Amino acid sequence: MEVVQALGWDRYGWLRHGFSTRGGGVSTVYSGGEEAGELNLGWTNEDDPARVAENRGRFTRTVTGEIAGKAGWPLVTLRQVHSDGVRVVRRGDGALEGRLQTDEGKAVWEGDGLITNVPGVLLGIQTADCVPVMVVDVGKKVVGVFHAGWRGTLAGIVARGVDAMKAEYGSREEDLAAAVGPSIGACCYSVGEEVRRGFEAGYGYGGELFEEVGGETRFDLWEANRRQLVDAGVSAERIAVVGECTACALDAAGRRRYFSHRAEKGFAGRMLSVVGVMGSQPK
Ligand SMILES: [Zn+2]
Repeated sequence: MEVVQALGWDRYGWLRHGFSTRGGGVSTVYSGGEEAGELNLGWTNEDDPARVAENRGRFTRTVTGEIAGKAGWPLVTLRQVHSDGVRVVRRGDGALEGRLQTDEGKAVWEGDGLITNVPGVLLGIQTADCVPVMVVDVGKKVVGVFHAGWRGTLAGIVARGVDAMKAEYGSREEDLAAAVGPSIGACCYSVGEEVRRGFEAGYGYGGELFEEVGGETRFDLWEANRRQLVDAGVSAERIAVVGECTACALDAAGRRRYFSHRAEKGFAGRMLSVVGVMGSQPK
């Protein structure tokens, strides 16, 4: 299984994080049953929930470095709604006991961002073209992950996330680092006029995010989130943009490296992007 990580974050020994790719799982529904198992991490209608559960276990254990068969870190996900809603995972709210997910592993809370300083919990965002953004406070050991499609980015989800880290934990801007994960690139992302109008109205630099190519309006969602992070106070040198397009990146064997909602016309699995704080789990 290949897990994508932010350049330079291996220096933070207390941090566990990873962006999933397509290979290394047990799902077959999105490959026509022909290829080696795929790592669908979303509870999609088409896939077998038992396979998704197995995939989730494999992926989270790979990220945390735990041994198969052990319970592992609880995963907290959200019912994502393309909003600017950020939820704080606190000790005592049931995250460590797995109560922020149903027995079937589905999300209980609604929102598009999660932050925490509680060790031993993985925060996860699901995507299949939208941008997963992570922000970490390397001074206070706080982590956050955010779901930034065009609507969430327009609403300012990562700016709200940084605001929440400052308000909840007293995070200082000079301690923040961020990663913009694999997601649809400007190479493959043509959008309608309403997207351009929204960003031009909402952001001073909005017009710079678009380019006319062959009669299409291409939108750079990576740059939109990078600019938003810089405006929120994250130093440009501390923002890692992975820069791989989910719609067109291929793996070494020439297969699709990611699931892509757009490239696969809606029939696609989901990636997970997870981040957490290493530490002893209080019981
Ligand atoms: Zn592309």
